[in-house]
Amino acid sequence: MDKYPKNHLKAAVAAAFCFLIFITALPAKENSDTSRIPVSLSIKPNETLSETSAEVQPAAVSKSPEVEPPAPTSPIVEDEWVRITIRKGDSLAAIFNRAGLSPKDLYEIMSLGKDVKSLKKILPSKEVKFKIDETGALAALNYAESPLRSLQIVKTGSLYKAQWLSAETETIISYKTASITAEKPSLYHAGKAAGLSDNMIMQLSNVFQWDISFALDIRKDDTFTVLYEDIYVDGEKVKEGNILAAQFNNMGKTFEAVRYTDASGYSDYYAQDGASLRKAFIRDPVHFSHVSSSFNMRRLHPIHKRVMPHRGIDYAAKKGTPVLAAGDGKVTITRQNNASGRFIVVQHGQQYTTKYLHLSAFAKGVRPGKTVKQGQTIGYVGATGWATAPHLHYEFLVNGVHRNPRTVTLPKAAPISKSGYKRFKTVTQPTLAKLNSVAGNSNYAYAPSED
Ligand SMILES: [Zn+2]
Repeated sequence: MDKYPKNHLKAAVAAAFCFLIFITALPAKENSDTSRIPVSLSIKPNETLSETSAEVQPAAVSKSPEVEPPAPTSPIVEDEWVRITIRKGDSLAAIFNRAGLSPKDLYEIMSLGKDVKSLKKILPSKEVKFKIDETGALAALNYAESPLRSLQIVKTGSLYKAQWLSAETETIISYKTASITAEKPSLYHAGKAAGLSDNMIMQLSNVFQWDISFALDIRKDDTFTVLYEDIYVDGEKVKEGNILAAQFNNMGKTFEAVRYTDASGYSDYYAQDGASLRKAFIRDPVHFSHVSSSFNMRRLHPIHKRVMPHRGIDYAAKKGTPVLAAGDGKVTITRQNNASGRFIVVQHGQQYTTKYLHLSAFAKGVRPGKTVKQGQTIGYVGATGWATAPHLHYEFLVNGVHRNPRTVTLPKAAPISKSGYKRFKTVTQPTLAKLNSVAGNSNYAYAPSED
């Protein structure tokens, strides 16, 4: 709001005033239509108008006293554009009617084919702008479907032509740092407190999903730093872009990621030495946002009243929470028994097996012989078998031996190739230097790499 250019404002206010005079020139019927169906302003100019309206409105009223108080109900004219904010239930026909435009113009525009399809489902709170020629006919129309994309229709000769325009964007690099504390015990809490959006928190958890168990292994004094893009249009932030680099200090270990787009246009995240962050398995087969953290893994078994030999790890989550395949593989068993309840076994290549127990249901199409992809929903959390509360019991086996899926060393995706490494280093160095300076550990940035 504060960034809205002042000159722009003045022009808008002055233009609004011109439009008042324009309204008074309309035939009586249309004039009463206008007052009966007030045209709402877009929020932005409306707010700013009210700040400056004191000096403008009295003049308008004194010149044409029969005109209604204008502020919340009149469209704003700016650079000859009449701006109308779409209301709930609005159609383009209703807006044309309110603006006094002819049904013939509307018909011609709607006949332009697939380019104008989005005009059939215009969205409330978005804006339609018109230019009207001296005969009162429509000269141009602009519909901003999003701050990034608008449909422009211009009359050339006697024909309308439609084209989609992309807004000019500006990318600003932002960063946030945060730490896990007793008051902010999860990635979500700490991220929110630091000012990260839900989207950024999810992106961050995706970047490190192969290294860190966000569901179970986030500890007090863990810290993280995220360097990311904010996308602006006309001085207003419209969305976030990608995470460019991130660092996560988890239980004394530092993980670092930098986004890199190779010469062929493929983008992914890598460690500073060019190792891929991608691995054959994600650490948590349940999304961390669904997992309750206050779950005592060493509790006595509710049925056997003793600490059971526990060969897996448990994720407490609501019944119905999606259970994800930890890696690409083939389903070998979907079955139900007394102890495990409904369970799934997935085989990943020759060496690896994962098991998912106590499910309330199997996902559709998941049965022995079917292949599954990493992150695919294969079932749903439940409390079938020996379980008193809904949770996922997850087991990870390497060559038939149970291993801890949160700490086991996992096969990695291919690193940056030898031939591509020089380019990788050149491109990512400045980003990593920035990350490390905002993370406050600049000595880490240029630590000699291990190889
Ligand atoms: Zn268990």
